Amino acid sequence: MQAAIYEGIEKLVVRETASPDLPEGGVLLKVKSCAICGTDLRTYHHGSSFCEPPWIIGHEVAGEVVEVAKNVSGVARGDRVTVAAGIPCGTCRACTSGWMHLCSNVKAHGFHYPGGFAEYMAVNQSAVTQKALSVIGESVTYDQAALAEPLSCVINGQELVNVTLGDTVVVIGAGPIGCMHVEVARARGAVCIIHVEQNRLRLEKAMAFGADYYVDASKEDAVAKVMEITGGRGANVVISACAAKEAQGQAVKMAALRGRVSFFGGLPKSDSIAAIDGNIIHYKELAVFGAFASSPSQNRLALDLITSGKIRTDAIITHKLPLVEIVEGIGLMDRGEALKVVIHP
Ligand SMILES: [Zn+2]
Ligand SMILES: [Zn+2]
Repeated sequence: MQAAIYEGIEKLVVRETASPDLPEGGVLLKVKSCAICGTDLRTYHHGSSFCEPPWIIGHEVAGEVVEVAKNVSGVARGDRVTVAAGIPCGTCRACTSGWMHLCSNVKAHGFHYPGGFAEYMAVNQSAVTQKALSVIGESVTYDQAALAEPLSCVINGQELVNVTLGDTVVVIGAGPIGCMHVEVARARGAVCIIHVEQNRLRLEKAMAFGADYYVDASKEDAVAKVMEITGGRGANVVISACAAKEAQGQAVKMAALRGRVSFFGGLPKSDSIAAIDGNIIHYKELAVFGAFASSPSQNRLALDLITSGKIRTDAIITHKLPLVEIVEGIGLMDRGEALKVVIHP
């Protein structure tokens, strides 16, 4: 089969490689759509501690089941499915506490298991047992279904920071994740959403998603602008949805008294120490949350939201490319010319 093989930093090569075998107790997928994630951009540019090259990355996957092992129930040949990225063990302390995505033995497609930038992908027994596969409805396209994974991570972040009825929410970063945060915040009852971004191209694309205010951080002081919009109070919730440490420092400054701040976006591992004024957290009694990945149940919730049309996914997908153009797709996302690029292997 053809696959995009990650061979090292800034080396992603599309070439022939062996197709995966049907795993015992698992299924084999023909990958129809695999979306490029910000995590893929980080792996491409900076490497990842979760996978050793050469490796097939890609974890936002939707496809058709083409083979099913004996004794597998709940999924059949011909089913159209999406795959949760992280596969929890189901037995560790985190799993039994209900935090499946924080499983200490978590294994993820595209990291520990080969991923979706390939014609075929194996889904093994533990993934099937842990309900990583969700069958998608007829009305949902493979491209839309591939977005269930990033959307489920956004849902996890907003559950933790508890965006709720009447909140004023700032989202810093207008990549695809930032745009999904706007959609989910609206769905959860936020009354005022302020979207902050310093890349003009990205900000213009984000205007398809109904925030109430857009702040071009390359032209205006984002903290001052949020304070002005909120009458000096700041926002109830601030979500840093980008890989910039400066955004984390700004996020606490923008928050209202007793505000909640989410450090949703991870930072490059070589540059992850942010300057954050601890006294602001102290005096304003802020709560600062992390957010990482999502559980299979949040993946199913994401799919329900996509299926019902409550979250608009089509405008997030700005480019659809064949596998051979994957590096071009990464460039489009790097430059802010694309929101989400979906690869069709
Ligand atoms: Zn992702
Ligand atoms: Zn576990």
